[in-house]
Amino acid sequence: MPNLAKFFIGGQWIKPISPATLPILNPATEAQIGTVAMGNSEDVDSAVAAAKTAFSGFSATSKKERLHLLNRLKAATERRLEDLAQAMRIEMGAPITMARAAQADTAIGHLKGFIDALQELEERQVLANGDVLLREPIGVCGLITPWNWPINQIALKVIPVLATGSTCILKPSEHTPISAMIYAEIIDEAGYPPGVFNLVNGDGPTVGAALSRHPDIQMMSFTGSTKAGIAVTRDAAETVKRVTLELGGKSPNLVFADCELEARVSASVRECMFNTGQSCDAPSRLLVERACYDDALRIAKLTIDSIKVGDPEQTGDHIGPLFDKIQYDRVQSMIEAGLAEGATLLAGGLGKPDGVTTGWFAKPTIFADVSNHMRVAQEEIFGPVLVIIPFEDEADAIAIANDTPYGLAAYVQTGDLERAIRIATRLRAGSVRINVSAVYSP
Ligand code: NAD
Repeated sequence: MPNLAKFFIGGQWIKPISPATLPILNPATEAQIGTVAMGNSEDVDSAVAAAKTAFSGFSATSKKERLHLLNRLKAATERRLEDLAQAMRIEMGAPITMARAAQADTAIGHLKGFIDALQELEERQVLANGDVLLREPIGVCGLITPWNWPINQIALKVIPVLATGSTCILKPSEHTPISAMIYAEIIDEAGYPPGVFNLVNGDGPTVGAALSRHPDIQMMSFTGSTKAGIAVTRDAAETVKRVTLELGGKSPNLVFADCELEARVSASVRECMFNTGQSCDAPSRLLVERACYDDALRIAKLTIDSIKVGDPEQTGDHIGPLFDKIQYDRVQSMIEAGLAEGATLLAGGLGKPDGVTTGWFAKPTIFADVSNHMRVAQEEIFGPVLVIIPFEDEADAIAIANDTPYGLAAYVQTGDLERAIRIATRLRAGSVRINVSAVYSP
């Protein structure tokens, strides 16, 4: 991909100022598939200057003009969906069926949602007392995204910028630049004015920090690890930016004996393993009522034994590799920690699946009889590892669920809707899904 050596700034693909580069590897084959240019603070300066210049014109566009551009973006995205899916297959190992149906598809799903939201948005609202409330674009935005749902995260950040009349600089994960650069080509094709959208590749401490500290950026939107989120917040403080963070999780999934046990436990295991466990809101702590604990273990074991690990190039519902060696090693060390802490290995374990020698493939793994204080219950593993913890009653379940440094998501499986709502209000999580899973609702 020739554009990997360039950045998209001011409507042009330009040669970076920084000479640094990074190899991009295919996690399924470990082969190098490209070399991406890595920017520095001067590259950031020129992108911010382009975004700042573009803001005066783009912020003055009408809602009608921006809706027209978003519809052009939708048409351009639809034309490139297969390219986006193939890019994510090769750069982060998403199996192609899932890369098409779940990863690439988010670019359209979110776009539709934001088009609807913009249509309904009252940009000028007269309040009951006669005051006028204006909803105005915030300015130049710095957007930093992770590698695990690359286009999902980019779409969630870039589209609202385009919808509301702000301008932006995107720094995608340095490990998944290909899908991001295709997205830049799509925006270019849609006909956005130069400088409205800019892309600079690079690492977090260099390009990410330069964005967070830049005096001409008004807002930072970050998704990634807690550690990097803290760094962005600190770096942005000096220039008093607005900062939004979406961080990691160790999401509890409370299973009560009165739920449709077979369906709910099976869906829960699949959801945890989806995207090879590399989802921020994966239901990775399965809390099971003692009364149905043995049954739940049996169903979980049957389900995980049916999950295949395979080549991302093949169609099918198998899971793929972890996205790189660092991630693979981390998952292995967490499995070692679970074994050392005395958790019961119900399925999977250390090493690669039988017969696999190449690629960062891990075994889908379940630990049972886990206590919530164990590292495998407290730390985000970000791999195909589920921990199962028994609980006695509702109060015990809520206490275990909330005993975590995270608060991103939670899940409740029960046949009693009143109970579900009662519990949901007591779970300290940003979202609570009741009897549904995001991907595998039967
Ligand atoms: P990461 O924090 O290592 O990197 C995310 C992004 O931040 C990358 O673009 C990286 O270059 C950048 N970055 C790193 N250090 C930085 C710094 N000091 N300043 C500015 N930017 C910096 O995370 P990752 O490994 O790419 O992604 C996995 C993590 O992201 C997991 O913790 C996962 O739970 C989380 N995540 C959260 C959500 C959500 O919506 N809450 C979604 C997806 C992933």
